[in-house]
Amino acid sequence: MFDADFFRRWMAATTASVDREAERLTALDSPIGDADHGSNLQRGFLAVSAALEKEAPATPGAVLVLAGRQLISTVGGASGPLYGTLLRRTGKALGDAAEVSAEQLAQALRAGVEAVMQLGGAAPGDKTMIDALVPAVDALGEGFAAARTAAEQGAVATTPLQARKGRASYLGERSIGHQDPGATSSALLVAALADTAAA
Ligand code: ADP
Ligand code: MG
Ligand code: MG
Repeated sequence: MFDADFFRRWMAATTASVDREAERLTALDSPIGDADHGSNLQRGFLAVSAALEKEAPATPGAVLVLAGRQLISTVGGASGPLYGTLLRRTGKALGDAAEVSAEQLAQALRAGVEAVMQLGGAAPGDKTMIDALVPAVDALGEGFAAARTAAEQGAVATTPLQARKGRASYLGERSIGHQDPGATSSALLVAALADTAAA
């Protein structure tokens, strides 16, 4: 079972990882975007960590709802509302239980990913964060390590795709040959979850 502290540690691990990888995420957003993905998420997750320290929400659901709200209010780019929706919807699906099982988390994350698809209109294969998140959620039944591997493979597999959503889609065929920054950051989020579960 996973309690609020586990979810706070997951968000802290994500903040640290996004902070460490910010330059790489921004570099990926340079050829097929506007070179701000790393700084967008860095700002967003630093705000998430600050809010979680200040408010210390008592349940897993409340941790993710607060995190999602922070991302929506601090990240101007497309990724803010999308990641914000992912965490907020996942948090809402967890309800107000003090502890949740791995299976409940997997189900809630699926609801979160579906909300992102509804909000952004992206499907698998459109070269977005969805290409890392859907395989991760599909693999979560086999464990956190499997989800991490699936997300990382999903991010790498965006390289040969042509973008059909977001800023990169404006480039048409010229978006081919570059790894999607949002799929890459989604793999960091899933890796942080796997690390937190393994610690
Ligand atoms: P912006 O494009 O506004 O500068 P970011 O650079 O922070 O925002 O985020 C870009 C990432 O957001 C993309 O790499 C992609 O993964 C994701 N993204 C953009 N539009 C969508 C969408 N409609 N659905 C899902 N993900 C999207
Ligand atoms: Mg950008
Ligand atoms: Mg931008």
